[in-house]
Amino acid sequence: MTPQSGPEAVVAALVASAGAAVAAAKVRLGDIAAAGCSAPGPLDHKTGVVYTTQNIAGFANSNYPLASRLAAGLAGPAVYLDRDTIMAAIGEGLAGAAKGARSYVYLTVSTGVGGAIVADGRMLRGATNTAGELGHFPVGFDRDVRCRCGSFGCVEAYAAGRNLAEAYGVDDASVVYAKAAAGDARAAALIARAEAALANLAVGIVNALNPERIVVGGSVAEHEPGHVLEPIRRAIAERAFKVPAAACSVVPSALGADVSIIGSALAARDRAAGKGAWFL
Ligand SMILES: [Zn+2]
Repeated sequence: MTPQSGPEAVVAALVASAGAAVAAAKVRLGDIAAAGCSAPGPLDHKTGVVYTTQNIAGFANSNYPLASRLAAGLAGPAVYLDRDTIMAAIGEGLAGAAKGARSYVYLTVSTGVGGAIVADGRMLRGATNTAGELGHFPVGFDRDVRCRCGSFGCVEAYAAGRNLAEAYGVDDASVVYAKAAAGDARAAALIARAEAALANLAVGIVNALNPERIVVGGSVAEHEPGHVLEPIRRAIAERAFKVPAAACSVVPSALGADVSIIGSALAARDRAAGKGAWFL
């Protein structure tokens, strides 16, 4: 669990966790050259500063220098920070389902919806390093479907596990899927709406970005591929431009729940070795 008593407590927990992992692996912290850390954004991956994060107490508008504080706590390896979905995309690109692809999109459908975009061999960063926030691509006009980001009609507001659960009035989206499978019309309607939101996003991704692969991860995608990957595939086949649709495959994450952790380790390794130019 992430501590909710401020950034220093988060750093202390991360340092303790890293220390335990290193001890379990029977290596010394001083022998490790680099460590990777993934965090929700927005953040600056080059300076290692988290600008703000709403869901972790003490990080809102904090401009917290997470990488340097972690490095001080670990007293050894250099620490490289990046957004969780960027780390996931790096992991899938180097060692997972996007291996070999020069243009791909990583999409996570989990508690929230997020993503990262690699175009022509480069991570798309944008002007302020927030490119790839696919969960907040608006796909609906309904002002009643409010999103935590302050907007309405975002993919996340329809399709994120947390939003599905809230809309139905339960704690976990798995309940909504189970109810729908048992014939509950209200649950089925919410899931149909989530599928339609993901479908619209996917058609937009294919038409606007022309990726050769869309890698779909996250707990909801993992447990309910028939309600996540399948509607995405159907929509692309039925409605996207034919040429980019034929070039694009929609595949599940190969790295599962650990995707951001594996990506963080690979990103740190490559940045320390000067090989991270494609994603920096
Ligand atoms: Zn939003």
